[in-house]
Amino acid sequence: MTTLDQFATDKLARLEAGALRRRLRPTARAAGAVLERDGQRLISFSCNDYLNLSTHPAVIDAAIDAARRHGAGAGASRLVTGDHPLYRALEARLAALKQTEDAVVFGSGFLANTGIIPALMTRHDAIFVDELAHACIWAGARLSGAALHVFRHNDLAHLAELLAAHRQAARHAMVVTDGVFSMDGDLAPVGEMLALANAHDAWLMTDDAHGIGVINEGRGSAHGHDVPLQMGTLSKAVGSYGGYLCASHVVCELIRNRARSFVYTTGLPPAVVGASIAALDLIATDPAMCAAPLAHARRFCAALGLPPAESPIVPLLLGTAERALAAQAVLEAAGFLVAAIRPPTVPEGTARLRFAFTACHAPDDIDRLAQLVHDRILVTA
Ligand SMILES: *Cc1c(COP(=O)(O)O)cnc(C)c1O
Repeated sequence: MTTLDQFATDKLARLEAGALRRRLRPTARAAGAVLERDGQRLISFSCNDYLNLSTHPAVIDAAIDAARRHGAGAGASRLVTGDHPLYRALEARLAALKQTEDAVVFGSGFLANTGIIPALMTRHDAIFVDELAHACIWAGARLSGAALHVFRHNDLAHLAELLAAHRQAARHAMVVTDGVFSMDGDLAPVGEMLALANAHDAWLMTDDAHGIGVINEGRGSAHGHDVPLQMGTLSKAVGSYGGYLCASHVVCELIRNRARSFVYTTGLPPAVVGASIAALDLIATDPAMCAAPLAHARRFCAALGLPPAESPIVPLLLGTAERALAAQAVLEAAGFLVAAIRPPTVPEGTARLRFAFTACHAPDDIDRLAQLVHDRILVTA
């Protein structure tokens, strides 16, 4: 064996021993929340396709139409020849939904965060970040070289303390948080955080990956607040792929010039952009659809006596990775896919089931799932 293969073998063995080895499993998703794995039909409570728009006929038609008119690929980066006409329409719709001057679309949410933060922050600056922020916020923050100050989850007093202690020493400062926390489903106190950031001349950036389309009639977790940097993804409720920043026109122009993950990568395929446009049109015109995932999450919480959900995401903390995997297996045997989430995606000792509710889940299925969780998982907790 080469030293490289030996290295990989040892690393994987260590993951396996901690029940932390992950494996890809071919999964055929169908319309609604149904999917097929290893020949078994499952109802998924693990897709972030909260509005089931990835399989909506109008969205698929828009993707096909865009591919026919503009081709299968963008051909180059957006700044060279990859800025096909659909991009303009998509950025206009995002700015309208978020009520900002402008929007800039990236290849993915991960690329957005790893591009935006280093384009604005340098080693002379300070970033204040929630301890539970998404992995790609950390990646972008580290890449920037700025000093990192971590505040306890949603703890405004701790953030205020850190700002008071460290803001002065930095040239510019940024406060970064998920708007909806991806593994806990709770919301950041955006209004209060914005006031605090403003008072310290720090720029607030919210990551609305799990808010767009499903919170505040689809407008997202920052709606009603003048958050200067509103980042998010087109890969979840929008049902397609890509990331975005909604901000002032000059900030978007700076990002188009300086974000390396925007400049040095190929534009999105036209079909992907066409799909996002059609999906955003549905989101803008169908508030009842946008409200359904949260209503479904609340139905589930009420059935189990859990605190009311704040978003379509409901975590059930189980502690060890082994327990979370065993709970997933119990539900899977009964026809439900609810993925166990293990470290390092969540902190050590907080492995969990993460339920994600979508617009088209049937109330009966939600009730059956809640009953099963009550009878088979909570009783052994
Ligand atoms: C999923 C996610 C991202 C990454 O978005 P992609 O488009 O999937 O790359 C960023 N931030 C948060 C909070 C997410 O949950």
